[in-house]
Amino acid sequence: MSILILADQTDGYFKKTAFEALSYGAKVAEQSGAAAEALVLGTVKDDLASLGKYGVTKVHHVPNEALNKVDTRVYIKVIAEAVHTISAKILVLAHNNTGRAIAPGLSARLKAALVPAAVSLPDTSNGFVVKKVVFSGKAFANVFMNTDIKIISLNMNAYKIAAGDSNAEVSELNIPVDTAKVKVIATDKVTGEIPLTEATRVVSGGRGLKGPENWGLVEDLARALNAALACSRPVADSGWRSHHEHVGQTGIAIAPNLYVAVGISGAIQHLAGVNRSKVIVVINKDAEAPFFKAADYGVVGDVFEILPKLTGEVKKFKGEG
Ligand SMILES: Cc1cc2nc3c(=O)[nH]c(=O)nc-3n(C[C@H](O)[C@H](O)[C@H](O)COP(=O)(O)OP(=O)(O)OC[C@H]3O[C@@H](n4cnc5c(N)ncnc54)[C@H](O)[C@@H]3O)c2cc1C
Repeated sequence: MSILILADQTDGYFKKTAFEALSYGAKVAEQSGAAAEALVLGTVKDDLASLGKYGVTKVHHVPNEALNKVDTRVYIKVIAEAVHTISAKILVLAHNNTGRAIAPGLSARLKAALVPAAVSLPDTSNGFVVKKVVFSGKAFANVFMNTDIKIISLNMNAYKIAAGDSNAEVSELNIPVDTAKVKVIATDKVTGEIPLTEATRVVSGGRGLKGPENWGLVEDLARALNAALACSRPVADSGWRSHHEHVGQTGIAIAPNLYVAVGISGAIQHLAGVNRSKVIVVINKDAEAPFFKAADYGVVGDVFEILPKLTGEVKKFKGEG
């Protein structure tokens, strides 16, 4: 039996979420005495054999250029074919934009049970049960999977990357690739910033900042912490910041190691996108702000006083102040 793990890439480079999925899939394989094998789609600049260090013994590569951009219908067909070709019983992928877009279609095509947003290794003591988050991260569900083929999409930051020093055997997988029905005619890409979904630290501002002219304070702290920038929805709706920074139920869902919320009240819709952060720090002048209930560390105070001091202390700690 083998376990197939999708190692997805952007512009030829593997993402952090791919390494998490590989490490998780390799552990699932070890648990069940199966072989862990990776699937890579499109042309890649990174070294394929080096994926072995995350625990896979083989890398199946479909190098077709048409797979460099994600077209869900094309991806679903190719991945389903790969699952059949190598007779994989479990497919693991990251619960990122790609995973979210293709996992339901794969589930239907492969007649496979799907656990999206999984947060732990399967419990095989009595069947095959996988824990996942539900209700925007407010609760967990243990899902019993009883189909022949199973699909698990792993929540971001839910499993620690385990890297060794092995190399994997690389082989080309000869699978027909359909022409995409959706044609990408332009890509508007943000450059020079830490991508929010990949960031391990995030500094996020809300309406408490009063206006876009004060964002320098948030940016200074983010720079000192080497963190990505985020914001609450009203901030993006008001045009203070771009919508690609908006986190929450209707924005991007993130799970960094550190989330610093500055002048954000902590409405349930905001928390839905950030409550999987490992450590939450809240700075708010209102001691009754709901965000403090979700915080690991809280500072009751005025952001215009606290932020410059905090940034100064971080710089001092790094020997820059
Ligand atoms: C269907 C739906 C979906 C939504 N989706 C999202 C979403 O995805 N993401 C999201 O963020 N919101 C979302 N919202 C909006 C959400 O309900 C809140 O209105 C929003 O999160 C509030 O943003 P805020 O905390 O920046 O602003 P406010 O609620 O205005 O809070 C500002 C905070 O700043 C504090 N503050 C003010 N001045 C200072 C100061 N000088 N120093 C320190 N603190 C100060 C205040 O005490 C207050 O707590 C959604 C709402 C709905 C109905």
